[in-house]
Amino acid sequence: MKLTAVIPCYNEEAALHFFYEKMREVMQEMPYAEFELLFIDDGSKDRTLDIIKELAAADERVKYVSFSRNFGKEAAIYAGLENSRGDLTVIMDADLQDPPSLLPEMYRAVTEEGYDSAATRRVNRKGEPPIRSFFARRFYRLMNRISKAEIVDGARDFRMMNRAFVNALLEMKEYNRFSKGLFGWVGFRTKWLEFENVERVAGETKWSFWKLFLYSIDGIVAFSTIPLSLSAFLGILMCLIAAAAIVFIVVRQILYGGSAFGWPSMVCIVMFLGGIQLFCIGILGSYLAKTYLEVKKRPIYICGETNIGKEQETAQEQRG
Ligand code: UDP
Ligand code: MG
Repeated sequence: MKLTAVIPCYNEEAALHFFYEKMREVMQEMPYAEFELLFIDDGSKDRTLDIIKELAAADERVKYVSFSRNFGKEAAIYAGLENSRGDLTVIMDADLQDPPSLLPEMYRAVTEEGYDSAATRRVNRKGEPPIRSFFARRFYRLMNRISKAEIVDGARDFRMMNRAFVNALLEMKEYNRFSKGLFGWVGFRTKWLEFENVERVAGETKWSFWKLFLYSIDGIVAFSTIPLSLSAFLGILMCLIAAAAIVFIVVRQILYGGSAFGWPSMVCIVMFLGGIQLFCIGILGSYLAKTYLEVKKRPIYICGETNIGKEQETAQEQRG
């Protein structure tokens, strides 16, 4: 079967050679699969694209799509799925944090054991900053509580899928993409494989804490509307508290008279309510912002350069 490996790369000049060498070994171990390595250069600013072109010149299994600028990993995954011509498609990081040695097992799961996809999760987060692990755990816990899409803690984007699965993902043309949620949302039978965390082979991570934080908000907005209900609930709660306070003040006035005191507490209450209102408008605003971006229907990525489809062109030139 034809197997396309989609590899999103952003400033990966240091890691690419290690990755390619490792993949060559694995491809040799799997002669039964017809490999295609589809590198997605996500607007890298270093020599990543040059290295990919060198690889492509030496090995015809190497294909690439290069973006006109950095569109993010999610866009790169989408471009990879869209341009994949394999019966099976696997998404892998370029830094060898997704061990290629798992490929034979994943291949078996999808071709022989009747699964539609083989997914992976890392069982620990060794080598990661503790604060990051802590917030990641909280995020997965929260996400599973507030959304219907099942999102597994420690799940990677490293996943092998058959055609049906890929087509289902491509059906979802949303702009605000959160693949970990989309994978769960489309359903199908998935086999989970586990592995110990591996540190990246070279280069450094592209995800700052802030970028991850924004990404987690994207995930929540994309897969849950609970925050909206929560703000409505908060409004009702405040009304109830206010009603109780009114009763209290009226009764106090009737019994003791002279209720025109408490200016400082008044200011606190006004500011507190102002804060809650702004917070709820903020929640509303983030959904509106995402809706705004969706309705514009901008393309998810723009291809600057590619060698896909070049074979047919050269063949035609030779013929004509
Ligand atoms: N990546 C990308 N575009 C980006 C950021 C990252 O294509 O804007 C790629 C990157 O080259 C790598 C993968 O996404 O192949 C995972 O990124 P990284 O290893 O930096 O993330 P981490 O493993 O630390 O979560
Ligand atoms: Mg990595």
